[in-house]
Amino acid sequence: MNSPDTPILELRDVTKTYTVKQGLFGKSKPLTALNGISLQLNRSDVLGLVGESGCGKSTMAKILLGLEAPTSGQVLVDGKPIGGENRLELARRIQPIFQDPYSSLNPRKSIEDIIALPLRVHHIGDEASRLKKVRDILDVVGLPSRVLTNYPSQMSGGQRQRVAIARALVMRPEIVICDEPTSALDVSVQSQILNLLGELRREFNLTYLFISHDLAVVEHLATRVAVMYLGQVVEENSVEGMFVQTRHPYSKALLESVLTPEPGLGVPDTHLGMAYPNPIEPPSGCHFHPRCAAVSEICKQQAPRTQLTTYGRIKCHLHDETVQAKLVQA
Ligand code: SF4
Repeated sequence: MNSPDTPILELRDVTKTYTVKQGLFGKSKPLTALNGISLQLNRSDVLGLVGESGCGKSTMAKILLGLEAPTSGQVLVDGKPIGGENRLELARRIQPIFQDPYSSLNPRKSIEDIIALPLRVHHIGDEASRLKKVRDILDVVGLPSRVLTNYPSQMSGGQRQRVAIARALVMRPEIVICDEPTSALDVSVQSQILNLLGELRREFNLTYLFISHDLAVVEHLATRVAVMYLGQVVEENSVEGMFVQTRHPYSKALLESVLTPEPGLGVPDTHLGMAYPNPIEPPSGCHFHPRCAAVSEICKQQAPRTQLTTYGRIKCHLHDETVQAKLVQA
């Protein structure tokens, strides 16, 4: 029996490294997509995972869904390593909702077939009871049962994302990995889907890992926020703390990008001085130093430690008292 304090989902020092070949005759080099990630989610939490494209968010989603194995470290569900879980049982407990509902739904299958598929794969019920479950979940996501015979191409982007949500929830999972679930939708539809996800979380006591490059979207739904940069978590904070007292220079730049005319486009380079670095050759010291407005000499030479503070965790020399004391003495 697990303690009630056991996180429902935990990553312990998870690293994922790929080998990448540069050019036809180039040498193979390691690319570290995740570098020592430790995170915990308690039941009913919504952890917003934020960062630019290429920071490792999608690699983390694949590992959590059991689609890839970490190179080192552990992922635990209710305190048990997911490597030891039966794949089908893991799929029952953790379900994904992806960015583009059009490409994630089979265009040749009817809406009924798409939503019923997980029930069939898990041999749950007979045809009649499966149809009832499909009708019930359609109602929950706000779609009429007349769409059961439709195909994805006959539905709008918002309706397709509702179908994708219905498919994810029909098995009554405990954890949902939402990978940019609104970024392919019109702005007017985005807030409807975010509101729906919020309602479903309360109704079904769901725990979300909510991946997004857009802090404004995360603010809407998350209870905690983790900001990723080049495979590392550089700040973790409550959502109030993140938006009221952002500490890390990168999180501050992300917040400023929300105030641009087109926040959905992510972080414009003008906010950070230069483009996102090549993850195969990450900068020395603090990986963020070439783009950081608060950079000092030590940042170029020494990687910052992760500091536990009263408001969360942060990885920056500015918030390391030992480093700051040494700089004052020097
Ligand atoms: Fe900026 Fe230095 Fe902090 Fe890195 S360690 S975020 S370069 S101030």
